[in-house]
Amino acid sequence: MITVVGSINMDLVVSTDIFPKQGETVLGNLYTTVPGGKGANQAVAAARLGGEVQMVGAVGLDAFGEELLAGLKAENIQLDAVKRKEGASGIANILLSEGDNRIIVVPGANHKVMPEEIDASKDQLSTSSIVIMQLEMPIPVIQRTLELCHENGVPTILNPAPASGFNRELLKYCTYLTPNETEAEEIFGEDWLQALEQYPNRLVVTLGGKGAQFYDGEKLVTVKGFPTKAVDTTGAGDTFNGALGVALSEKMPFAEAVRFANAAASLSVEKFGAQGGMPTREAVMNRME
Ligand code: ADP
Repeated sequence: MITVVGSINMDLVVSTDIFPKQGETVLGNLYTTVPGGKGANQAVAAARLGGEVQMVGAVGLDAFGEELLAGLKAENIQLDAVKRKEGASGIANILLSEGDNRIIVVPGANHKVMPEEIDASKDQLSTSSIVIMQLEMPIPVIQRTLELCHENGVPTILNPAPASGFNRELLKYCTYLTPNETEAEEIFGEDWLQALEQYPNRLVVTLGGKGAQFYDGEKLVTVKGFPTKAVDTTGAGDTFNGALGVALSEKMPFAEAVRFANAAASLSVEKFGAQGGMPTREAVMNRME
């Protein structure tokens, strides 16, 4: 069982010709609601690839909460440890204009999850083959999950996004850390390449279309990406992490697991939307041939 401890949001997407200035009102072109949140995205990525997945997290008691749970259920994700919290579900208000975006995330129910709830899910966590996390949950929740998994010998993937919430204490207990280049720089500074050597086979930095890099204990390994025509890179990192979780839970060797994750993520950028573009196992196998 793969467990994802993470955020569940509704993305409220508005496209407009121009962004309003402060105090101004403009007419937009299109409004859509799309399920998102890094946690939910990673869970969907893993489930599509054939992983048996459960989520730990929360949605609100609002209509979005209902819809978000139904969407995850339709992907065969187990939701026993997803709680309903008083108030609104997490949302991301996304304004799009001419390839540019402005985003406001309101965590809502996601930030109402308490570390004690992680202890209540101890059985589910300690019997997982791998546990995946991001940083859209309260940091004490992530911290407690990492400690509990560490105590029980359960491997963990921490995707440190958004990196602003990261602290070095988290690095102590996670098995794998998967920042993109910007996040790597935020965490380790400009010479993050040196950090790769410090954390062999644990720290893997994603490099967009170029793939991903890690240090194998002897040398720097660049696992090349799969060049493709990118239509929408939203959710590329989430697909990478979900796929990496599936591959590592199946005990694939590390470099092979990263290649699998690159292949899955490259497919995800060919379609619009984060969850919309996430591939099946068969599509990934075809790409890897
Ligand atoms: P994030 O989406 O978190 O910013 P990256 O941009 O590094 O992270 O992308 C994550 C992974 O998605 C990359 O390691 C790569 O496998 C895949 N990917 C991203 N952009 C492309 C692209 N243009 N073509 C092919 N693969 C891509």
